[in-house]
Amino acid sequence: MERITVLAGGVGGARFVRGLRAHLTDAFADAGSKAPEVTVVANTGDDMWLNGLRICPDLDTVMYTLGDGVDEDQGWGRSGESRRAAAEISAYGRGWDWFTLGDLDLGTHIVRTDMLREGATLTRVTEALCQRWRPGVRLLPMSDQPVETHVRLAQGTSEHMAGELIHFEEWWVRYRAGIPVSEFIQVGLEQASATPEVIEAIGSADAIIMCPSNPVVSVGTIMAVPGVRDALDSTDARIVGLSPIIGGSAVRGMAEQCLQTVGVDATALGVAGFYGARTRGGVLDGWLMDVTDAEYLPSLKELGIRGATAPLWMTDTQATAAMASAALDMATSMATP
Ligand code: GDP
Ligand code: CA
Repeated sequence: MERITVLAGGVGGARFVRGLRAHLTDAFADAGSKAPEVTVVANTGDDMWLNGLRICPDLDTVMYTLGDGVDEDQGWGRSGESRRAAAEISAYGRGWDWFTLGDLDLGTHIVRTDMLREGATLTRVTEALCQRWRPGVRLLPMSDQPVETHVRLAQGTSEHMAGELIHFEEWWVRYRAGIPVSEFIQVGLEQASATPEVIEAIGSADAIIMCPSNPVVSVGTIMAVPGVRDALDSTDARIVGLSPIIGGSAVRGMAEQCLQTVGVDATALGVAGFYGARTRGGVLDGWLMDVTDAEYLPSLKELGIRGATAPLWMTDTQATAAMASAALDMATSMATP
């Protein structure tokens, strides 16, 4: 195996890729052979403009996590962060009090915005930022065109009317996904396309892994970008996913609310059905579920998806490395020689 391509959201994606990297470092430490190259295709559907700056939450979470710069307790943002600039900004009554930009984090956003305004693509900007963070993987945004997930509120708030569309991050961060929504809309999707780098990374991979990320607004958004599905459909690589749901609940974060909105059961089986079997118009060759979800194995087979179980709690890097190893084993065992 020479090339692995991973589709990732923010925290779930970043933690998984850190485990994958640890597994590969270990597995190839004394084998004398070169470890496979890992490309991470990250969701940029959560991106937004704030205070004149381009914010890319999922790209940054992956970059900081793999670059050892992440706030480990939060799972996102910079370690050793302070918020002096944010206090100044709010003293002017600008920006949002529910989304604070830390001082260190601002450095990243300023450099990114500066480069974008000079005409660089987000792919190129991300590469430049990674020259500092050295994540040990190639990190790619899903698209160079802006695609922003919005939600349609099914219920009004003191600030918004029912039926209004608001940015996904506002619903997620400000309202903690506590207001029912009727749909997710990816604004800009029609004008967007997967980058040549993403299409190449999918087409030339030996294995493709769907991180245990939010299936709707992380992996689902990546797959909705024109060009991504075609690339997945035509790749020779096996596509293996890891369930972000264990025992009927999202382990961290609020994936349930997203699944509910699109009418999918918040179970490991529900998510597998949402992705679908590759042989039946979906994307999955294999699906890895937590050991406590073994009851779904027969139903998974009926869906036409190869199933396996392993402990899927990303409690530490070692446990996550074992998850990555199990996913790669699955991909290898299904690969045509
Ligand atoms: P976000 O962009 O920061 O919301 O992060 P992602 O989309 O990458 O992943 C969020 C999802 O990852 C959560 O909703 C969970 O379903 C899943 N997740 C988080 N931690 C774990 C874990 O330890 N194990 C598994 N299997 N899934 C997890
Ligand atoms: Ca995200």
